[in-house]
Amino acid sequence: MIIRGGTFGPVATNTYIVADARGGSAWVVDPAMGSSAWAHETLSRLEATPVAVLDTHGHWDHIVENHVWAAEGLPVWVAGADADWLEAPSPFNPALFGDLPPTPGVTPARLLADGDVLELGDLRFRLLATPGHSPGCMVALEETHGEALVGDLVFAQGIGRTDFPRSDPRAMLASLERVFAEVPRETRIYPGHGPWAVTLGEAEPYARMFM
Ligand SMILES: [Zn+2]
Repeated sequence: MIIRGGTFGPVATNTYIVADARGGSAWVVDPAMGSSAWAHETLSRLEATPVAVLDTHGHWDHIVENHVWAAEGLPVWVAGADADWLEAPSPFNPALFGDLPPTPGVTPARLLADGDVLELGDLRFRLLATPGHSPGCMVALEETHGEALVGDLVFAQGIGRTDFPRSDPRAMLASLERVFAEVPRETRIYPGHGPWAVTLGEAEPYARMFM
């Protein structure tokens, strides 16, 4: 299992390329603003074929380059609760980002739900719905390899904000408790912002400062 990360755009959003093996199949996870050239280069270095875009949730900074991949024929996946944000992308706080070019919307090819299992070559990701930061936040856990894409649920030293439109602080607490209970502590996490590949067990005490 291969995961490569890069950090892009006005709020330092992490984009990941996840592949089952060199020369295998790959996902583009959370295509942030300005990530596409890096993502294409990473895919070609890995000789991997991109097969889908996985959006951990529908916030603008994580989906802004969906359209680049959709134009290449890739299906885009997101949880149903955040799907409308993909159809009409725009940041909540445009003033923060200056004069942005308009972001073309995409129609998700598949709406993800809790308990879904996504296969990527011989990798199997189990999805956990983790609402709170946004209604459609998902964690994708590859249990055999002990790696998880966690979006903006939990960071190396903190948790996602819950003061955005449609955020729900109470749901966030329940989602965090669920993940700390269900996901093994030694699982390496790949969050939407900040450092990655720390273990969930290392991140938990920092998260608990905000719970
Ligand atoms: Zn977010």
